[in-house]
Amino acid sequence: MENHKASRLDDKTLLEILALSQDATAIYTGDDIIIEMANDKMISFWGKDRSVIGKPVLEAVPELRGQEFFPLMQQVWRTGVTYEARKAAASLNVRGVIETFYFEFIYRAIKRPDGSMLCVLHTATDVTEQVLGRQRLQEKEEEVSTLNRHLNEANNELKAAAVEMRASNNELANTNDKLEHTNAELLRTQKNILQLNAQVSLSESIFRSFFEQAALGIAWLNGPNQVIEAVNEPLLKIWGRTLNDVLGKPHREARPELEDQPVFDLLDKVYQTGIPKVNTEMRLFLKSGDTLREVFVNSVYSPIINAEGKVSGVLATVDDVTDRVKERLQREVLQEQLRVTVESAELGTWYFDGKTNELVASPRVKELFGFYADEPMTLDQAIAQIQEDYREMVIAAMDATVQRNRIYDVEYPIVGYHDGNVRWVKAFGQLYYAGDGSAPQFSGVLIDITNRKNEENRKNDFIAIVSHELKTPLTTAKGFTQLLKAKAQKAEDTFLSNSLLKIEQQIEKMTMLIKSFLDVARLEAGKIQLNKQPFEMSELLSECVTEARSLSQSHELIIAHADVVTINADRDKIAQVVSNLLSNAIKYSPKGKLVEITCTHEAGVLKVSVRDEGMGVKPHDQPRLFDRFYRVESKHTLTISGFGIGLYLCAEIIQMHNGQIGVESKVGEGSTFYFTLPLE
Ligand code: ADP
Repeated sequence: MENHKASRLDDKTLLEILALSQDATAIYTGDDIIIEMANDKMISFWGKDRSVIGKPVLEAVPELRGQEFFPLMQQVWRTGVTYEARKAAASLNVRGVIETFYFEFIYRAIKRPDGSMLCVLHTATDVTEQVLGRQRLQEKEEEVSTLNRHLNEANNELKAAAVEMRASNNELANTNDKLEHTNAELLRTQKNILQLNAQVSLSESIFRSFFEQAALGIAWLNGPNQVIEAVNEPLLKIWGRTLNDVLGKPHREARPELEDQPVFDLLDKVYQTGIPKVNTEMRLFLKSGDTLREVFVNSVYSPIINAEGKVSGVLATVDDVTDRVKERLQREVLQEQLRVTVESAELGTWYFDGKTNELVASPRVKELFGFYADEPMTLDQAIAQIQEDYREMVIAAMDATVQRNRIYDVEYPIVGYHDGNVRWVKAFGQLYYAGDGSAPQFSGVLIDITNRKNEENRKNDFIAIVSHELKTPLTTAKGFTQLLKAKAQKAEDTFLSNSLLKIEQQIEKMTMLIKSFLDVARLEAGKIQLNKQPFEMSELLSECVTEARSLSQSHELIIAHADVVTINADRDKIAQVVSNLLSNAIKYSPKGKLVEITCTHEAGVLKVSVRDEGMGVKPHDQPRLFDRFYRVESKHTLTISGFGIGLYLCAEIIQMHNGQIGVESKVGEGSTFYFTLPLE
């Protein structure tokens, strides 16, 4: 303990060691804060000398008065609680200048073992440099951020400037565009001028070649005397003169043949008034060799105006239209003749105007429809007067002409609009093409056929009555013949029964004939109607063959081929057609020859053909065989009886079924008559 005590440093030494500390150090005691000790560092802080030792701090360092330090020191002395401060600012007098310093310092309360205060140990580190450095840093940072701000602002300004620049750039570009546009326009104008120039020289050359090559006659008559300054070849030709005859001469002198004609006066008038004159189809007599010829010309006399605005001459253009005019006049004569013919024949004429969709009818047509000649009649009004049963047929025929260019040829009765009388007419027409690409015109004539129709009707009525009257006795005769035949067979009288069979066959033929006449009459009166029913065609063919064989055994009748087809048609009428074709085949081919029937069907159409090995039909007769009462006249047919109505009836019946009938034939080899029927 002693050792320990002996080795302990005395107070003075301790203080001296403390005085060497790098940190500023001072020791205070008492309530007045007497500076017991202060090392050099502290003394230099204060900016004093060692004389401060032993003095109260406020006395030694008066600058501290009013600063926070003294009360703090007193507080530590009085309370014994250490006070620590970081970065305290102190204003100190350094060589006569008050400066601010920054310190980190501790006022440490040093106590005796009994707890009473011994002293206050003051250590301080000068952090002025650090603080100032940080401050500078801060200032720098602030500067930087200000700078940044400025930069930002500058940037924004730049941006704004850029926008403005762009705007002015655009403006510049626009101005540029405008300039380019103006430039292009200038170029165009220049081009136009060039073109105009070219055109001017072109029109000059065109005029020259026009003058020289024109089909039109052109002459330049100069001055009041109309001196012929220039005249082209076509006009010389019209004038009937040569260039030498006329060039340089006054017009009146050059062409004396015009003296009593209107040309000179008209030209004078144009020269005097300056008003052009147009002449259409002017009739003149012009020089042609030693005589004059009749000429028609279209001409224009135009005044030539000089730079002073005065008439200096006349330009005459002349077109010789003689041929055209004469042709037209001729046509007009022909038309007039036709008109007279049409009128005297009481033909009505009409046309359908495709542009206005109007019917243009002559007075006669209107009359036939029962209208007054001078009142209007539309197509609808005309159609309404057609008798109802025929109206659709007429409209269909008109459509067929307009749409399919068919010949329009129809007969129909009209009920007169005002008088209510029934008149029969035949209308005939077709499409006419103008040849200029315009729509064709549908036109034609209308003829009153009432008398003929009445005649026909009377004839048909007569045939119907006669046929009917003939049928009754024939039926009786047939009945008795059959009775007699039965009796003869019973009595085994072969001769008698054969004779009676022949009579019966003849009666049958006659019945058929009368039936045909009745059919024709009925057909024409529109009284034949179809009674359709489904039936098997091959069966019908067998029946017809059997019947034909019973009437005549002179030929070999065979069914070569028959498809089994059911057809919906009028069975009796089709049987009539087949029987007719069979009987013709027998009638018009030599005895013993083959007659062959075939029945096929394909693509919804049934076809029945009857082929014979007979005399055949010449090509020019073939299309007419199906006309009413048509018979081929030759030495072969002379001996064969008939009226020429069988095929006509066949054709009508097939047509009513919407089928077709026809013939293929070679003279001397045979014929094939066929008909087709649509399979529904
Ligand atoms: P028809 O036999 O009563 O004279 P059709 O109307 O049946 O009347 O025949 C018209 C004409 O057609 C006949 O006159 C005849 O000249 C000719 N013809 C008809 N069928 C044949 C045939 N199979 N071969 C040659 N000619 C025929």
